[in-house]
Amino acid sequence: MKPIELLLRRNILSLKPYSSARDEYSGEAAVFLDANENPFNQPYNRYPDPYQRKLKEKISKLKGVDVDSVFLGNGSDEPIDLLFRVFCEPGVDNVVSIDPTYGMYQVAADINNIAVKRVLLTDDYQLDVEKLLAAVDDNTKMIFLCSPNNPTGNLFNVDAVEKLLNGFDGIVVLDEAYIDFAPGKSFLPRLNSFPNLVVLQTFSKAWGMAGLRLGMAFADRVIIKVLSKVKYPYNLNILTQLKALELLDNNEQMNDWVRLLLDERKKLESELEKLNFIVKVYPSDSNFILAKTNNPKEVYNFLVKHKIIIRDRSSVALCEGCLRFTVGSPVENEKLINALKGYK
Ligand code: PMP
Repeated sequence: MKPIELLLRRNILSLKPYSSARDEYSGEAAVFLDANENPFNQPYNRYPDPYQRKLKEKISKLKGVDVDSVFLGNGSDEPIDLLFRVFCEPGVDNVVSIDPTYGMYQVAADINNIAVKRVLLTDDYQLDVEKLLAAVDDNTKMIFLCSPNNPTGNLFNVDAVEKLLNGFDGIVVLDEAYIDFAPGKSFLPRLNSFPNLVVLQTFSKAWGMAGLRLGMAFADRVIIKVLSKVKYPYNLNILTQLKALELLDNNEQMNDWVRLLLDERKKLESELEKLNFIVKVYPSDSNFILAKTNNPKEVYNFLVKHKIIIRDRSSVALCEGCLRFTVGSPVENEKLINALKGYK
């Protein structure tokens, strides 16, 4: 990996972060008159902990990662945006990513005026390591990967990800939003072996907390420190922090949901395969299924008429004719299959 000083934008390297009242005094006290808060309407009258100490402690234990290697954001969309802002000089630097993949990498890059070089996956939706490395130039700061990938649903081969981590001297971002549904292992336990690795995870999927907006980035403490100095001081509101602290005790509940959703995925896959207008059902390592049909728009509109909304991904690279079905509750999945059985 290149020295971090060469990877970071110069202005970020020299940035003096905002110092809040709670930065200057963070201990216990009887009277807090330092942050121009309203003394009434507790506990919402107080600014939340800008360092999210309690929540980070809990998450670091849950994930088996050093607390200094944890960044928490307003969804994982926040660290995605911050990564562009700290590493990429607008109009100068670029990133390499895959195609197809999650749309926010491109949007965050566009907002920050950073070029994205997209490299097509192979026909079986795996990484083309040679082409990805060949796309790298002197101004490439990051490679964005997503495993299991959205919208294809599959995990990438571990050795291909390793080759990119070892063969690229910039930052490799590995988005593991769907890893709790996958049979393969997360790269998280190997964080210490790769100083250039940033793993993204979220509480929006397996944990069922999309509405709370709580995403995570895990990386070497040097990278986490930089993300933390650029974020809004109070990026996680008090309700999110309090509710997440409570819900994270529900580890067993999360595991039950995952087991149930994996069973439902299996059922949904076999029901979709029986439908004569579904040409192919792609294997999934996540909580959604990609399936190909000859008439995606018609099927999509047919389901809308039945008040069932799926995602039409037919205009996405390598996904011609494809629809993406999120695995719902048993009742929702049954409604979907019953509706589809009435098509044509
Ligand atoms: N990464 C991937 C691959 C996703 O599919 C999504 C949401 N669809 C996200 C990140 C965003 O997650 P969050 O809700 O944590 O912002």
